[in-house]
Amino acid sequence: MLDYGLTDEQTAIRDLAREIAEKELRPVAAQYDVSGEFPWPVVKTMADADLFRTFIPEEYDGIAGGSPTLNLCLVTEELSRACAGIALSLCGTALGAMPILLSASEAQKRRYLPDIAAGKRLAAFALTEPEAGSDAGGIRTTALKDGDHYVLNGTKQWITNGGDAEVYTVIGLTNPKKGPRGASFFIVEKGTPGFTFGKKEDKMGIRASSTRELHFADCRVPAENLIGREGTGFITAMRTFDASRPGVGAQALGIAQGALDLAVAYACERRQFGSPISAFQGLRFSLANMATQIEAARALIYATARHIDRQPKERPTMYSAMSKLFASDMAVQVALDAQQVFGGYGYMRDYPIEKYLRDAKITQIYEGTNQIQREEISKILVGEQIARKR
Ligand SMILES: Cc1cc2nc3c(=O)[nH]c(=O)nc-3n(C[C@H](O)[C@H](O)[C@H](O)COP(=O)(O)OP(=O)(O)OC[C@H]3O[C@@H](n4cnc5c(N)ncnc54)[C@H](O)[C@@H]3O)c2cc1C
Repeated sequence: MLDYGLTDEQTAIRDLAREIAEKELRPVAAQYDVSGEFPWPVVKTMADADLFRTFIPEEYDGIAGGSPTLNLCLVTEELSRACAGIALSLCGTALGAMPILLSASEAQKRRYLPDIAAGKRLAAFALTEPEAGSDAGGIRTTALKDGDHYVLNGTKQWITNGGDAEVYTVIGLTNPKKGPRGASFFIVEKGTPGFTFGKKEDKMGIRASSTRELHFADCRVPAENLIGREGTGFITAMRTFDASRPGVGAQALGIAQGALDLAVAYACERRQFGSPISAFQGLRFSLANMATQIEAARALIYATARHIDRQPKERPTMYSAMSKLFASDMAVQVALDAQQVFGGYGYMRDYPIEKYLRDAKITQIYEGTNQIQREEISKILVGEQIARKR
């Protein structure tokens, strides 16, 4: 592997995640993929190994050591290499914790982050609604002030860790007349009266991850659970995506690396025409292309994550979007090509490779589809050009 300048601590975190992935995730990946159950025993093992602490600062019982974003990418990559679905219990929690990490008060951080760091309480991030996907500004959930509470009404759709998480960061309109400028984030705890869940979605991939609707019907949330000031919800959402999209890239990277590992091993084992299929140049070139694409994604993701950790005040929007875009398109192509290496066996569920293709697909869709990432990148490019001409 290339020397990416990881510190001893970062290397130790990556190695630990790799060990947990190989020992605890890989052996049960197929089982949870079939059952679609939430992998609680594995979550407990990941928590006991302190993996949830890796993206939380020390003051809140974490071990981030100044590189929460890079740590999260390293952990996500390694876990996803074995099972992207199980990995999402941790990545979805990091996403759910992000508005708290970025914008919450000291009291809110002290109240929620230590339990998240310990893996005692999982978190979830709730933005998407049935009528507001790519057009996130079209949300309709309301959060109207009533004395010392806000009253939430509306539906959030396809929320990762939905139903299994205890802590939800939810965006709603505190001033519906202002549209997105009147949106605010709240911390909503599972069990709050008026807060219920829809059915668990039956998905193509990442089946060990739970995805549910959240329903709010006159759900009264204490005013102290407002994150930041009223009207800052969309700023928090955008800053969350800036920080979390390299993590989606890392998930895609891990899936692609896992698929390539399997393809190389199979190519060296499977014999046709009297020799291993790895002897055939047509197939070797495909493996070479996969490895090259994977390394390019890794370099972009690590550089972006390190930049975010070192320059927390700068908006890394374009590079975060590029990390997610490049790695997820790459992962889908690599998983497809890796499946091809397996020939007909690759089409059978008895072999683990087809799961990688099913798991890879979602990385092109969530946290903004890849069309939306291209929109964001090109908006910045064009904006910079216009500014230069002025
Ligand atoms: C398994 C899963 C887990 C998820 N987890 C979460 C979660 O934890 N929290 C959360 O808030 N959300 C979550 N989501 C929602 C996810 O972020 C949205 O699905 C995604 O943003 C796309 O929205 P949409 O599905 O409504 O697609 P739409 O917005 O309806 O888009 C449909 C198609 O039109 C394209 N399109 C739309 N607008 C444009 C445009 N301006 N230019 C070009 N093309 C465009 C899209 O790229 C897409 O191809 C999850 C979704 C899934 C499937």
